[in-house]
Amino acid sequence: MKNKKGLVIGVANQKSIAWGISEVLSKEGANLALTYQGNNFKKRVQPLAESIGSKFIFDVDVKDDSSLDSCFKKISDEWGSIDFLVHSVAFSEKSELMGRFINTSRENFLKSIDISCYSLIDVSKRALPLMSRGGSILTLSYLGAQRVTPNYNVMGIAKAALESTVRYLASDLGQDNIRVNAISAGPMKTLAGAAIGGARRVFRLSEQNSPLGSNPNLMSVGGAAAFLLSDYGMHTSGEVLFVDGGYHVMGMPKLDHIEKV
Ligand code: NAD
Repeated sequence: MKNKKGLVIGVANQKSIAWGISEVLSKEGANLALTYQGNNFKKRVQPLAESIGSKFIFDVDVKDDSSLDSCFKKISDEWGSIDFLVHSVAFSEKSELMGRFINTSRENFLKSIDISCYSLIDVSKRALPLMSRGGSILTLSYLGAQRVTPNYNVMGIAKAALESTVRYLASDLGQDNIRVNAISAGPMKTLAGAAIGGARRVFRLSEQNSPLGSNPNLMSVGGAAAFLLSDYGMHTSGEVLFVDGGYHVMGMPKLDHIEKV
């Protein structure tokens, strides 16, 4: 990643997937700009940014055009171009990440899709003029996009739309030599992860029943991201790469974890 520059959107704290990716990219020589959302997170993200020598951190709310305008303007003024963009953002009201899916409200449905999916299109469009030499865009998804997982509810629909968006963007931006991919990470203990009802049980079940017997960590997701964002990934686009200990290939829990019927 030497001589590559990029923007990572969605660092909340040292447990954030965006931070895991940033650490690995920085170790591999990349130059990074980071975003956080809201003043409360600034005090957590500032020291993280300093620890990797990142000079630029921005307060960005993907619902707020002016915050995106000033972030991309500053990057354009300072760097002129970027090589990669990481979108690690999702939101849904916690009250709808539990209980019956049928109770999904229109308001939260639209908000979840807006923040968790539309924002990828928005930031990709803003990144396009900065990627005149080509580039790589990455977002984060979860198995609940493709199959039903407990309490994921409306976020499953948002992630399904996000994975489809990855394919449409990959097709559209291929002519600009820009690749677009997603990592579908297994359960991880982050702020967003904890918002899903029953997260601890899902975490343990995935851990116990994945072929590798483990969930991903910041290094393994960061490593997969480094592949997709580096030139080693130069012919990979439109892909959803699972980093979940292999859990997604399982049709049922391991026999030891199925009660005798
Ligand atoms: P996290 O809470 O650390 O990161 C989520 C980020 O989204 C935060 O930085 C938050 O500020 C940001 N965000 C939410 N609304 C925003 C808005 N309006 N504008 C700007 N930023 C906003 O949790 P995480 O687990 O690192 O989540 C990162 C991504 O990984 C999400 O897309 C999440 O769905 C995905 N993911 C998480 C897991 C998991 O188990 N933790 C698994 C698979 C995928």
